[in-house]
Amino acid sequence: MSLEQLPPLREVIEAHGLRARKSLGQNFLLDLNLTGKIARQAGGIAGHDVLEIGPGPGGLTRSLLAEGTRKVLAIEADPRCLPALAEIAEAAPERLEVLQGDALKIDPLPYLKPPIKVVANLPYNVGTELLVRWLTPKKWPPFWESLTLMFQREVARRIVAMPGSKAYGRLSVLAQFRSDAHICFELPPQAFSPPPKVTSAVVHLQALPESRYPADPRILSDVVARAFNQRRKMLRASLKGLLPEVEKTLETVGIDPKRRAETVSLQEFCALAEAVRNSRQT
Ligand code: SAM
Repeated sequence: MSLEQLPPLREVIEAHGLRARKSLGQNFLLDLNLTGKIARQAGGIAGHDVLEIGPGPGGLTRSLLAEGTRKVLAIEADPRCLPALAEIAEAAPERLEVLQGDALKIDPLPYLKPPIKVVANLPYNVGTELLVRWLTPKKWPPFWESLTLMFQREVARRIVAMPGSKAYGRLSVLAQFRSDAHICFELPPQAFSPPPKVTSAVVHLQALPESRYPADPRILSDVVARAFNQRRKMLRASLKGLLPEVEKTLETVGIDPKRRAETVSLQEFCALAEAVRNSRQT
């Protein structure tokens, strides 16, 4: 059986008794036109290895294979999905490898060859954690060329938010520090089975060859975590534990210590992280 001859996803779900489990964030996409549209947002995946987290019954997986990927590595927590995924693997010989387990605990790198892209309709419970890990590896450029990911719309807006907006925060700074990020399109709850409570959105992040401004990623990450943890407070208060004389450091990089985190640009956060690094070295 070829990929095109596989049965409709509703039949697959029925045949394998895949009743959606809320605890696993299971909201399935059953429209292959839609999964094809998501796969194409990744921009030229033919010949690439693709990492997919949470394939479920395999709608997006089928589309990724149909777009000519060299290999799809799919990590799925729910063992009930394995027989459905095995049918897809049979229809695309040697191109789909499935690992069963928690994506937070599995290192996919030994199973992938560059160039690599990540495409996933992420489970809401681990989506942000995975994104932060992919954005803050020890070495840059990272193992991935791009990330094409489905999130709740609210999370997608945080990734692309600019200073001064309510959505601007740690995710915006970490994403924009080393990638170009944009929202591709939104999906209403009815696009999924069962429909979630919220609207979703697909985000595309293209890795930059190097960070937009110089900064030590670990210090930057620490600075923004502290600053946005108490986002209503002035920086001189929220960053108190960062350095003994934090007000002075803020002033040396031209940031008024009375400002709040949501007004500080990426460039300013990077300059602050560099100043923190310098003052720790002296
Ligand atoms: N990709 C499928 C689709 O688009 O229809 C399913 C997407 S559904 C939103 C999320 C999937 O992630 C589910 O199949 C769920 O079982 C799986 N999942 C949940 N937590 C996971 C984890 N920690 N590691 C790997 N997969 C997980």
